[in-house]
Order: sequence, then C-alpha cells, then structure tokens
Amino acid sequence: MSAPDQEYRLPNGGPSIAALPKVSLHDHLDGGLRPTTIAELAPAAGIELPEGDLGAWIAAQADSGSLVEYLKTFEITVGVMQTAEALTRVAHEFVLDLAADGVIHGEVRWAPEQHLTRGLTLDAAVEAVQQGIDDAIDDLAERGHEISIGQILCALRHTGESLAIAELALRHRENGVVAFDIAGPEIGFPAAGHRAAFDLLATEFLPVTVHAGEADGLDSIRGALLDGRALRLGHGVRLADDVSVIGRETDRTTVGLGPIATWVRDREITLELAPSSNLQTGAIAFWGTEMYDHPFDLLYQLGFRVTVNTDNRLMSATSLSRELALLSQAFDYDLNDFQVFQLNAAAAAFLPLEDRDALADRIALGFEEA
Ligand SMILES: [Zn+2]
Repeated sequence: MSAPDQEYRLPNGGPSIAALPKVSLHDHLDGGLRPTTIAELAPAAGIELPEGDLGAWIAAQADSGSLVEYLKTFEITVGVMQTAEALTRVAHEFVLDLAADGVIHGEVRWAPEQHLTRGLTLDAAVEAVQQGIDDAIDDLAERGHEISIGQILCALRHTGESLAIAELALRHRENGVVAFDIAGPEIGFPAAGHRAAFDLLATEFLPVTVHAGEADGLDSIRGALLDGRALRLGHGVRLADDVSVIGRETDRTTVGLGPIATWVRDREITLELAPSSNLQTGAIAFWGTEMYDHPFDLLYQLGFRVTVNTDNRLMSATSLSRELALLSQAFDYDLNDFQVFQLNAAAAAFLPLEDRDALADRIALGFEEA
C-alpha cells in the first residue's frame, strides 16, 4: 500500500486534501524515496533487499518499535544514494511526489556527509541534489504546477562535521541551500557541541532549524534556541513538558507556560511537527500512543505556531495530505484549521518576505476556491 495513491478528505467529506495548496517544511530526502526506485538502484549499489512489497516492509520495520530496525531502513535508502546520478534521480522524484500531493513550497533536508562512500565530494553531492530539484521544477512548470524548493543541509549531532557542513551550506546559499539543521541522536549530543558551526551561521545570517524536543526534553530545546539560535524547531513536541495545568474547573482548564515555552510561543518560533513520525519514534510516549494523545492540539490551542509535516514519507507510509487527514480525525479539524497550518508554514518558510507573502496569497486563494 502506498499512501499517496489514496485520496484523503475530511471525515465529513469536502475537497480532496491533496488539491489544497500546502507547504512542507520538514521532509527528509533519504526518507522519501519511491520503493520502485530503491529496487532499481539497489543492485548497482550492492544492496540486497528483502523479498516482497518493499514499501510495506519498510513501513513495517519503521513501525516495529525498535530503533535498530527503524534505522536499518535508512541504511538501505542512504545506501542507494551514493552517486550523483542516484541523488539527482531521487531529488527529482521527491519533488514530483510533493507536487502530486499539492505542495507549492517544500524544504528538503538531508545530510551530505552520509553520501560520500563512493567518491562524491560534499559539494558534488549538493550539486547533484540541486540538479534533480531544478529538473523537477522545470518539468512541473511545463505542466502548469508552480513549486519552489529549498535544500536544508543537516549536520549530524554525533559526528564532528558540523562546521564543514555549515561552510558547505554557505557555499551553496546562492544555489538552492536555504538553511542548516542538526539531526541524529539527540540524547548525549547537545547543540552546544556544534557552537562553532552555529556561530559561523549566525555571523553570516544563514537560517537554522534544529531537531530538538523529539528524543530529548527541554534542555535540548534550550540548547537549540541558545546555542543554535534556531528560528524553527524540528518537532519540539517536548515543549509540552513546559506546559503545566494550574487550575481545573468543570468547563475550563487553566495552564501555565514555563520560560522556554513562553519564549517559543511569544516569539512565534515554528514547530515542525510530524504526527505519524512522532508516534513511531516515541516522541510523544509520555502522553500516549494514539494520535489523539499527541500534544499537537494542546500546542495549537495555546497559540504556538504549529505546522504539519511528514518527516519521512516512506518510513511512515504517509503524505502531507494523509497527516492532515489523521489530525482531522483525531481533533475534529476543518478546512479553516488546515489553512492556519499552511499559512503558519508559509510564514516560517526560509524564503524572502515577498516570496512568503506570495505563498500566503496562493494558499488563501486555493482554500477559498476549494
Ligand atoms: Zn526529521
């Protein structure tokens, strides 16, 4: 079963969610390959694949509750993305698939240092991905679908390459790279360990988002904000740890925000939430195991700038439309809520102000016509 093939609607009907204009801020290149492409690239990459339906197998591994099994799926996807041709193809298809799901602006993130095992340089890898993006944008323009795409380069928390990746991002900022991120194991590898990279990026004014508050708690979010100067948080779900109930009457619950949650909400630092992924990785384990346990709605109701994302479409067998459908089932959201999430994402896109305003106009028009 391939999720994006299905048509998603609100529980009470309405327009196809895929037809609504959407903005995707947190989507990993190595988590969004087509299973057919993996199968075609695997032999040349020397990778043996399991028998049967690859997409279903990957989704099952990712859902097994074991981080080891989950990470094995990335060994396969990253394994087939070690040549310029493969990176270009994967990036090209990635953008086409976003467009098919109604995305009008996407930011694709990946870690170049993981793609050097067959002789590529960091710069050549970034150029190969940009080639695929540019080709896809041209293809789509011919079909009348206007889309903009930015690359976010991820450094890994547990390797020592963050300064080199920050420099790489700066070298390619005129050619498709819009921001920097750190990803990888959160616990034990604080943002403070990457201060040299963050200081350079701050000096050069390149935007930063940081995966934080996913596997670890408030200290990690503090590090993303103070050491990383993050303008967005990758997930940040654990911010809900900084929200406490201070009073409860029959029809009313009063909550208090701690200093970190206050800062994030009042400064409108965007939360890149990925509901299905957050369930799979245990990021919301403190609150429960079902979608309606996700603190997404709590954060939304409290006024945080929440956005909806896929994280890894292949591993979660999902799409942006499906994530919205799941949220609407869990929290009774309607088209107005969906529009808020898309406007939030447009406002937080790593684009110049006039481009973000143009995205907001396209979203407003698309929802009006829906
Ligand atoms: Zn992520």
